[in-house]
Amino acid sequence: MAAMAVALRGLGGRFRWRTQAVAGGVRGAARGAAAGQRDYDLLVIGGGSGGLACAKEAAQLGRKVAVVDYVEPSPQGTRWGLGGTCVNVGCIPKKLMHQAALLGGLIQDAPHYGWEVAQPVPHDWRKMAEAVQNHVKSLNWGHRVQLQDRKVKYFNIKASFVDEHTVCGIAKGGKEILLSADHIIIATGGRPRYPTHIEGALEYGITSDDIFWLKESPGKTASPRQVEECGRQGRLVVGASYVALECAGFLTGIGLDTTVMIRSIPLRGFDQQMSSMVIEHMASHGTQFLRGCAPSRVRRLPDGHLQVTWEDCTTGKEDTGTFDTVLWAIGRVPDTRSLNLEKAGVDTSPDTQKILVDSREGTSVPHIYAIGDVVEGRPELTPTAIMAGRLLVQRLFGGSSDLMDYDNVPTTVFTPLEYGCVGLSEEEAVARHGQEHVEVYHAHYKPLEFTVAGRDASQCYVKMVCLREPPQLVLGLHFLGPNAGEVTQGFALGIKCGASYAQVMRTVGIHPTCSEEVVKLRISKRSGLDPTVTGC
Ligand code: FAD
Ligand code: NDP
Repeated sequence: MAAMAVALRGLGGRFRWRTQAVAGGVRGAARGAAAGQRDYDLLVIGGGSGGLACAKEAAQLGRKVAVVDYVEPSPQGTRWGLGGTCVNVGCIPKKLMHQAALLGGLIQDAPHYGWEVAQPVPHDWRKMAEAVQNHVKSLNWGHRVQLQDRKVKYFNIKASFVDEHTVCGIAKGGKEILLSADHIIIATGGRPRYPTHIEGALEYGITSDDIFWLKESPGKTASPRQVEECGRQGRLVVGASYVALECAGFLTGIGLDTTVMIRSIPLRGFDQQMSSMVIEHMASHGTQFLRGCAPSRVRRLPDGHLQVTWEDCTTGKEDTGTFDTVLWAIGRVPDTRSLNLEKAGVDTSPDTQKILVDSREGTSVPHIYAIGDVVEGRPELTPTAIMAGRLLVQRLFGGSSDLMDYDNVPTTVFTPLEYGCVGLSEEEAVARHGQEHVEVYHAHYKPLEFTVAGRDASQCYVKMVCLREPPQLVLGLHFLGPNAGEVTQGFALGIKCGASYAQVMRTVGIHPTCSEEVVKLRISKRSGLDPTVTGC
């Protein structure tokens, strides 16, 4: 494999600039252009987190680069600009709406700190959405400028393979564009999954592709009278992972009644003790949960509301409820179907349709690579897509041999009480090393800011999963509390560097913070002692 990588790097020479007009209005390469005659050193398909990182890095290394990006509107007609999922319909608008919800909590705290706040304080969806959307549009613009500055050619076309070195797409004016390159990186990401087997799901449901771009509040159709008359009203979020819980969290936080329908367990793959506490916290702050249920039908009622029918997964009993919005958050499908991958010979998983790659991000075709959400078995996270892309380009054009390390990738679920983690869950640690060899240190703590405001801190909890044998290598850290993303990011460095429990205990805390609770973890679960932190 290493020999193959070296041979490929040898092919990565710089080729002459060439963009030609050919008969029939076709621009770019003729089909099957030979090495030395291709348009670009690198063609990136997909202008999201990973694709843009690749394009910019390759340009920085002096290569001739093109990036193609095209956004298929959502089934509800939502469309957006350059930058991919994270910028337009993911991390960025999500975190800003999470912030809007957190501010609502701070407004509740404010009177305890002497602020005279006239109640109630209404929330204006239109204002929030417009501000968030304007920020996203500024990021779209910023990406275009950065590509221009780095002389990366950008094509707003939906690309599909013609052969293993060439893709084609139709530009806005109907012109067919052919582009050829020595190296191609596929970074087309994914899109929300619709439960198409459910009647009415596609017609009446929305997804995370739509929620951030709604001009009107998703609670707009429910008048207070209707809520009173019909009982269960509000938003239904189906799913129980990152997207479902984050969206339900901010919707509840800005004052919209929200129900989450969970068919099995919340946050599959995460530490289940922490996941349960995330749900407990959300439930105690107003989010409703329908557990062990799966939807079977959605119908629009004459008054515009959506009647949802679901089944209890254990008893099979049917139930119905009326909602003004149904948001599907049941996972994502890779954007591979329109790529014509078979023309290039790129293999995908028959189960997931994701692209199969090796540790070099190489596909079944030597000069075609894939990174980010579109790849089988990778975390679907922006920083991993970016880092994998940069490292790949440095290997291709920068003489590097560094591979992406997908171990100990930190992440945070931005629920109202944030949950950050890195490394193994307690269950995984026990499964790998055996109960006898794992020591878990834990603490229930109260953030100082919660005290004056009289906030409940029942779910503020931290646990560190370690090997039992000294020096007790840290296997995983789990933090539930305010600013968990900020806390986890710092400790992720230590864990990446192989920190031991002993070293964490030798780290001096910063007082008074929530992060310091990590370096004060003295109580092991095994001891059975009360892990409630009292005093400083
Ligand atoms: P994408 O960013 O999806 O980019 C792919 C691009 O390729 C898109 O613009 C697409 O339209 C385009 N494309 C597809 N097919 C073609 C084609 N044939 N031709 C041309 N262009 C094409 N991650 C985090 O790390 N933190 C978070 O807080 C976070 N929050 C999220 C919240 C939500 C609601 C969602 C849905 C995701 C979130 N993620 C988060 C995940 C993160 O957004 C993705 O992991 C990341 O965007 C993946 O980057 P990518 O480059 O692989 O693909
Ligand atoms: P996931 O694939 O993580 O989870 C899908 C959820 O939907 C599961 O709870 C699953 O339940 C449920 N589900 C699947 N099918 C159905 C169905 N037919 N009916 C009811 N429920 C169903 O998807 P997400 O969309 O939440 O997230 C996608 C990815 O995006 C994440 O893996 C993450 O990497 C990324 N992301 C990251 C964020 C962050 O970093 N903060 C935020 C948002 C997204 P079950 O367990 O029963 O299968």
